[in-house]
Amino acid sequence: YEMTNKLKGAVTKKRFNHSINVMNCAVELAKRYEVDVEKAAIAGLLHDCAKSIKGDEALRLCEKFNIKLDNVTRFQPSLLHGPLGSKIAEIEYGISDREILSAIYYHTTGCENMSLLDKIVYLADYIEPGRRFPGIEEVRKIAVENIDDAIIMTLNRTINYVIQRGGLLHPNTVNARNFIMIERLAQRQGNN
Ligand code: FE
Ligand code: FE
Repeated sequence: YEMTNKLKGAVTKKRFNHSINVMNCAVELAKRYEVDVEKAAIAGLLHDCAKSIKGDEALRLCEKFNIKLDNVTRFQPSLLHGPLGSKIAEIEYGISDREILSAIYYHTTGCENMSLLDKIVYLADYIEPGRRFPGIEEVRKIAVENIDDAIIMTLNRTINYVIQRGGLLHPNTVNARNFIMIERLAQRQGNN
């Protein structure tokens, strides 16, 4: 595939392998949750396509593509590769599908009202076979049982991790978590 070869030339070997793993993992989740497999494959493959763009170059491209930097991203430039990757996927890889571009855009932070495809790519990035951290088997198991449970679990872990390291929490991450939790509370109230 042309897209795969292009990506191979744009990122490190390690990142490329990770991208293939995320693609395969996203395809599995897409089958499980009846989401378009092709879209999951492309979003998974390209989610980190801007990962190798760093520092001034990343900032220059953000200006060029009119990507607005929020205050958190300004001081946490590693978060840039989501929004920037979405633009690169559109311009360099010819992707026009808004759902794919959204999944790439929000794969690092999550966001309010994530689509199933957003959730699949977010999770696949976290649990692909190359990842190793304590408790990952639990997240992998929940991921095929209930995707929202797995997303909440992953958001909680990420939020805890950022706080432990004294880092900045991106509002999109908090919004992603609140949205799903409020959805569930509202559902429970409706059932009473
Ligand atoms: Fe990433
Ligand atoms: Fe990734």
